[in-house]
Amino acid sequence: MSTLKKAVEIKGKGIHSGLPVNMVVRPSRMLGIFFQRTDIADSDKIAATYDNVGETKMRNTTIGATNGAHVQTIEHLMAALFMAGIDSAVIEIDGAETPILDGSAAQFFDAFMRAGVTGAVRRKIVVKRPVIARAAELRRGMNIFTRAKWWLINTVSGRKSNGYVKLMPSVDNALEITATLVYPEKIIGSQTYSYSFDGTKKSVDDFVKNVARARTFGKFSEWEYLKAHGMGRGADETNVIALNNRGDGTLNKTIWPDEFVRHKVIDALGDMYTAGGFVVGKLESYKGSHALNNLVLKKLFSDASNYDIIESK
Ligand SMILES: [Zn+2]
Repeated sequence: MSTLKKAVEIKGKGIHSGLPVNMVVRPSRMLGIFFQRTDIADSDKIAATYDNVGETKMRNTTIGATNGAHVQTIEHLMAALFMAGIDSAVIEIDGAETPILDGSAAQFFDAFMRAGVTGAVRRKIVVKRPVIARAAELRRGMNIFTRAKWWLINTVSGRKSNGYVKLMPSVDNALEITATLVYPEKIIGSQTYSYSFDGTKKSVDDFVKNVARARTFGKFSEWEYLKAHGMGRGADETNVIALNNRGDGTLNKTIWPDEFVRHKVIDALGDMYTAGGFVVGKLESYKGSHALNNLVLKKLFSDASNYDIIESK
C-alpha cells in the first residue's frame, strides 16, 4: 500500500454549490480511497469506486447516493491521488463537493507531494480485452426525466452524441490515454491529446508539466443555464476557462491553445482511478464524458475475462 506521510488539509469552494468546504486527506492503512462526510452524523465511509458512482450530471463524477451521503466532483482529486501514487487514504470532507481550487489537478498534486508519499502501490488492473461504451447506450438506460435533462444540456451546449470511450490492452504496461474533443465553438474545434503513465518519474514529470494545470471549461452562455439549475455557482474566472458567446475566444487566458482537451486527460485519469487500482490499458476517449468513463469500467468488470488483477505485497 502507499499512503501520505502526513495529513493534508485543503480548503476551497465547490464549483457547483459555491459553498466553502474543508477537506483533510488522511493517511490510511486500509487499501482504497474512501470519503467520509464529517458534517453528516454516523455517515459511512464511501469507497471511491466505479460501482459507487452515482449521478454524473454530464459534468462531474459523484460518489455515493445522490439523495444520501455523497461527494461530488471527485475527478480532479482522484487524478492527483493516482499521479501521486496514493492507493490508501481517507478523505474527510464537511460538504457535498470537493474544493475546485484552480479547476485543475495541480494544487492537489502539489499538496500531496509536499506531504510526501510512503509505500508501494498494491493493485494493478490489466485490461485484457477491448471494451467500449457508447453515448447511445447511456441514453437507452435513462428514465424520461434524465433523458429530457440530457437532451436539454446537450442542445444548450451544441454537443452531438456519437461519443465513445474504449479501453484496450496496452503493449507498454502503461495507462495510455488519447482524448479527442469536438466542439462547434471555433476556439476549441477538434483537439486530440495523448498522455501515457507508466509509473516512471518521466511520465509523472510529463503530467506535471503538460497536463496537471489544465482547467475545466464552459461556455459563458451555458453558465447562465447551469446557475439557474443550481450548478456552476462556484465557477469564476479563476477556476474555469470561459468561452465567449461567439465561441471564437475565451474571457480569461488559456495556458495552452489545447488546454480544453488536456483537461479531459485529467478527467479520464481521475475516473479510471475509480477502478480500485492502477489501470494498465489504452483508453481512447472520443467526445467522452464522466458517464462514459463510468460505463466503460462497469463493462470491463462485468466479465472476468476482460481483465487481470495483479496484487503486489
Ligand atoms: Zn474536470
